[in-house]
Amino acid sequence: MQQQDVIEFKGQLRGELIEPTDARYNEERQVYNAMINRRPRLIAKCADVADVMTAIHFGRKHDVRVSIRGGGHNAGGLGVFDDCLVIDLSLIKYVHVDTTARTVRVGGGCTWGDVDHAMHAFGLAVPSGIISTTGVGGLTLGGGMGHLTRKYGLTIDSLLAADVVLADGTFAVASATENPDLFWAIRGGGGNFGVVTSFLFKAYPVQMVCAGPMLWPLEQATDIMKWYREFIVQAPEEMNGFFAFLTVPPAPPFPEELHFKKMCGIVWCYTGLLEQANEILEPLRADRQPAFEFFAPMPFPMLQTMFDGLYPRGLQWYWKADFVNELSDEAIALHIKHGSELPSLHSTMHLYPINGAAHKPTNADTPWSYRDATWSEVIVGVDPDPANTDHITAWARNYWEALHPYGAGGAYVNFMMEGEGDDRIRATYRDNYERLARIKAEYDPDNFFRVNQNIRPHHDA
Ligand SMILES: Cc1cc2nc3c(=O)[nH]c(=O)nc-3n(C[C@H](O)[C@H](O)[C@H](O)COP(=O)(O)OP(=O)(O)OC[C@H]3O[C@@H](n4cnc5c(N)ncnc54)[C@H](O)[C@@H]3O)c2cc1C
Repeated sequence: MQQQDVIEFKGQLRGELIEPTDARYNEERQVYNAMINRRPRLIAKCADVADVMTAIHFGRKHDVRVSIRGGGHNAGGLGVFDDCLVIDLSLIKYVHVDTTARTVRVGGGCTWGDVDHAMHAFGLAVPSGIISTTGVGGLTLGGGMGHLTRKYGLTIDSLLAADVVLADGTFAVASATENPDLFWAIRGGGGNFGVVTSFLFKAYPVQMVCAGPMLWPLEQATDIMKWYREFIVQAPEEMNGFFAFLTVPPAPPFPEELHFKKMCGIVWCYTGLLEQANEILEPLRADRQPAFEFFAPMPFPMLQTMFDGLYPRGLQWYWKADFVNELSDEAIALHIKHGSELPSLHSTMHLYPINGAAHKPTNADTPWSYRDATWSEVIVGVDPDPANTDHITAWARNYWEALHPYGAGGAYVNFMMEGEGDDRIRATYRDNYERLARIKAEYDPDNFFRVNQNIRPHHDA
């Protein structure tokens, strides 16, 4: 590749091309997880579909590996890679709400904060995650779970259609009626099949929710976990609640006497009325009164942004995950042991319920092959200080190794680091892997899109 090629490429883009010599290069190449430091060859900030096509043609012509960056939030840093061309979608940002059809069209570079903000004005929402700075692109293509999962399913269950620029630079629509195999594959198969420039989602009537955390001392954690494992498998679908080990942040609304205290908690989200929520939670309060609770009616975007401040860009992250069918007494004992040893203020362990509405599709309906699992577990070592990297990583690994034998086998692809290995990816897709590999061979036969949790094309199938 000559400098003249780069100049011509730049001239063809409506968006921007960032080179290593540009003053903004260092800022633009940053990864959300500061543990990862990568130096791409070029960053193409695409303004539209045509720019994405141009970038793919350029990458192909000059044999440059490409990475795709949506919200840039991936903990494994998969939006950016060394010596690659980053196809950055952050300029493709729009949210068009159709109140009649009750759908929303979302640009490929949006974050969930963009979507929540635009939809809230119409009393609507799409099920997503628990942090609003996360990208729509990566979260959706990997599955997507969060506060609305038990009521409305995974994010992929609300996806109606997507605009995709394929590995040969051509454009395709993926939906139940157009390229249905591609549509199947992108609902969980990650960024393996093309660059999604636009998502069309079904929306739901969610405006106010009753939500927030309840916290208990670690001494009660065994009892709370045992109560929770029974409760969440039979609770009404309107009630979502993820379990966590956490350290209480030294800030309001938490009382000073709890600041920096390691505790366990459940973060609730109820999509009905406060009286109904209180009726459901009353037995819990009566028998196991929380040391602190901040459970109240609030606008849905307030819940979605509740943890944004705690997890800004630029922290060190290392996480390990598993799907979980059952929480045995032995598994709970190990959780208590490792959860009590949280290595830093930001480190945590979350058990996200993925039952309720998320159980309605079958394992074969989408690539997400753990429709029968009850939880998605993630053990997260986080700290601002690079000097603590080894410490938080060792804690997360030890915790995960202890609990892995009690897991269901695979893990949520979006909770994996880069390079966890082919076996982990296959274990996650189970019987769906072969179908994904065949669709990959059709749409991306030479594995052009391989900076991801990679599905290798299966040519002889
Ligand atoms: C703090 C934090 C909280 C999180 N909370 C949740 C949660 O509650 N629920 C949940 O489900 N997940 C959660 N995640 C995981 C999250 O889903 C993944 O990190 C996801 O990859 C982020 O997507 P992104 O677009 O921001 O990432 P990026 O780094 O931009 O992209 C990651 C990968 O996704 C693919 N990709 C992204 N956009 C596109 C696109 N438009 N077209 C094609 N491929 C694309 C590419 O393969 C890319 O390499 C969280 C992550 C973090 C760091």
